[in-house]
Amino acid sequence: MRAAVLKENYRIVLEDVKEPSPGPGEVKIQVRVTGICGSEVHAFKGTHPYRKPPVILGHELAGDIVEVGSDVEGLKVGDRVTVEPQIGCERCYMCRRGLNNLCESKIVLGTQEWPGSFAEYIIAPAKVVYRLPDGLSYEEGVMVEPLAVGVHAVRWSEMGLGDSVLVLGAGTIGLVTIMAARQAGARRIFATDVLDFNLAKARELGATHTINVRQKDPVSVVLEETKGKGADVAFITAAASPVVEQAIKAVRKRGKALLIGFFEGPADNLEIFPLTAKEIDLRGCLMYTAEGFQNTLDMVAEGQLDSRPLITEVLDIAQAQEGLEVMDKRTRDAVKILLKF
Ligand SMILES: [Zn+2]
Ligand SMILES: [Zn+2]
Repeated sequence: MRAAVLKENYRIVLEDVKEPSPGPGEVKIQVRVTGICGSEVHAFKGTHPYRKPPVILGHELAGDIVEVGSDVEGLKVGDRVTVEPQIGCERCYMCRRGLNNLCESKIVLGTQEWPGSFAEYIIAPAKVVYRLPDGLSYEEGVMVEPLAVGVHAVRWSEMGLGDSVLVLGAGTIGLVTIMAARQAGARRIFATDVLDFNLAKARELGATHTINVRQKDPVSVVLEETKGKGADVAFITAAASPVVEQAIKAVRKRGKALLIGFFEGPADNLEIFPLTAKEIDLRGCLMYTAEGFQNTLDMVAEGQLDSRPLITEVLDIAQAQEGLEVMDKRTRDAVKILLKF
């Protein structure tokens, strides 16, 4: 089968690799469409902690079941599906609490352990395979994964109806967070970025205030607009120390700041005292749970989350290298780039 393999940092090669076959409890999926995510860009640059070359990347996908292993119930050949790209052990303390995102021995799609969807076929255990409702395209099926990140972040923030939220960074994760916050009843949504293109998308998807941080200080805008109180919740989707500092300064006392972005290193010179002085709740946030993934799929199916405006281009799988370069170097405006077989 054809697969776009990350051979070494910054080099993806389309190769013929051995076609996998499903074991007990597993299905084989023919990938129709797959997405390029921020974590693929980290892997491409060699800065991802566990996505290391040589590897077939890709963890956002939609396709068709073409083979079913033994002991699989409820799925059949021909089903159109998407995959929750994490496998929990179901036995550890976290899995037993329904937190498979925090499983002690989690396996993630797009790694050497579980080859990803930049390939014609992937294998997945039936328990992480979700049927796409009729009427939902493969493209929309792919987008369930990134949307689930935003839905999880908003749920974990325990944001309330009528709250003011600040979303720092308006790339894909920032945008899906804006969409979810809108659905959850945020009254004001402040979005920041350095790119006007991303800010225009943010506005389209529900941000009420957009701030280009090259021109304006987001902290003063938020404080001014909230009469000095600050935002109830800040979502940090751009992983850089100054952004964390902005979140801490812009949230109200007893407000929350959630880290959704992927930090490559330590946060430099981060002042800790304001966390104490304002009793701020700084929270990590990792992917989503199985339950959250299902909920997101249901919301997409029922038209409450429309991911189509996030898809800015669809390339052929043979252009995986180009897609990753665009996401890395921003040589053209892009939110979500999909790859098609
Ligand atoms: Zn993703
Ligand atoms: Zn577990």
